[in-house]
Amino acid sequence: MHTPPKQHRVWRLLRHPAGDDFAAGLTLERQDLPEPADGEVLIRNEYLSLDAGTRLWMTPRTDSYQPPIPLGSQVPGLILGQVVQSRHKDFPVGAWVRAFGQWADYSCVVPSQAAVMIVDESVSDIRQHLGVLGMNAWTAYVGLTEVARTRPGETVLVSAAAGATGMLAAQIARIMGCRVIGLAGGEAKCRYLREELRLDAAIDYKADGLAGALAAIHGGIHVYFDNVGGPLLDHVLPNMAHYGRIAVCGLIASYADDAAAAGPRRFDQILMRRLSISGFFSPDFMHRGDEINRVMRHWLDTGRITMRFDVTPGIDHVLTAYRKLFVGGNIGKVLVALQH
Ligand code: NAP
Repeated sequence: MHTPPKQHRVWRLLRHPAGDDFAAGLTLERQDLPEPADGEVLIRNEYLSLDAGTRLWMTPRTDSYQPPIPLGSQVPGLILGQVVQSRHKDFPVGAWVRAFGQWADYSCVVPSQAAVMIVDESVSDIRQHLGVLGMNAWTAYVGLTEVARTRPGETVLVSAAAGATGMLAAQIARIMGCRVIGLAGGEAKCRYLREELRLDAAIDYKADGLAGALAAIHGGIHVYFDNVGGPLLDHVLPNMAHYGRIAVCGLIASYADDAAAAGPRRFDQILMRRLSISGFFSPDFMHRGDEINRVMRHWLDTGRITMRFDVTPGIDHVLTAYRKLFVGGNIGKVLVALQH
């Protein structure tokens, strides 16, 4: 039986960070551990999921899909951990749960407000509840199936393809019978996509020859699963197939900007190539979580899909780990192991 300490450490947002200088805006503080009130649970956070979208909430912009994190408050984040104190009958002490908690040693939450879910411990690697069985997976799945209406045999291009969401989208598209091409920064990532994930091709967008490599895609791109936006999108637009679809999953190239980034500059191609372009936000599809999880679990158990983890130990190293997302330092899902 785990006895929680009197205090724990929490990351707070004190100022809006500039660029990827997170240390200037966030601070790690020690504070008293809350006692769960009636209806609440106290979770010992084992793994913290670091997600690119959180960067957007660290800015003051109010036109985003989520309100900004108020200055002075704890940084919210998806966590995987164990219930250590419970005042809710459905979440017993000892249960492994996934929840929207905080960047902290412990999260004290109301289950219905924090989407607390008891996870299946029989999975081969418990971290998969933040990987193949996690939020990035339903993002990839709904983006391809519902938003982009991807069909077998089509050519699918995925940006940030060596990252968590992109790696899952690329593998799901391959399982769906598509020709899959990944865009990633650097040869090591591209080799991983070709050799480990067995994509049909991978393009290093940081190397010379990007325009030529995209133009050489035979038959054009039917589906672009875009995690990035920015200049890459402008390179892709003239290489879309007629009636192609673009699922705008993320715009990581512009999350640090105060003003919305200009573009796309090649907007004309939406008319010329009769393209459809749709943004989507995975929490809107939360009601499909169980159904998507069943599909993912089958693919995971049968070895058809995988997730590589980039794990940093220690809550004091959260900012170093978080920066990886914005400088391309990760392959796969970035996690922090909090209780190492
Ligand atoms: P991730 O892909 O694991 O890591 C981010 C990757 O983005 C980096 O490794 C880097 O890879 C690439 N990147 C960063 N800045 C870039 C730039 N300026 N140009 C091109 N590539 C850049 O992170 P993630 O958490 O899974 O998020 C990926 C995207 O999915 C984000 O845009 C995020 O907001 C989005 N997302 C959306 C939803 C939704 O509901 N719509 C849900 C989850 C995630 P390279 O080395 O290849 O540059």
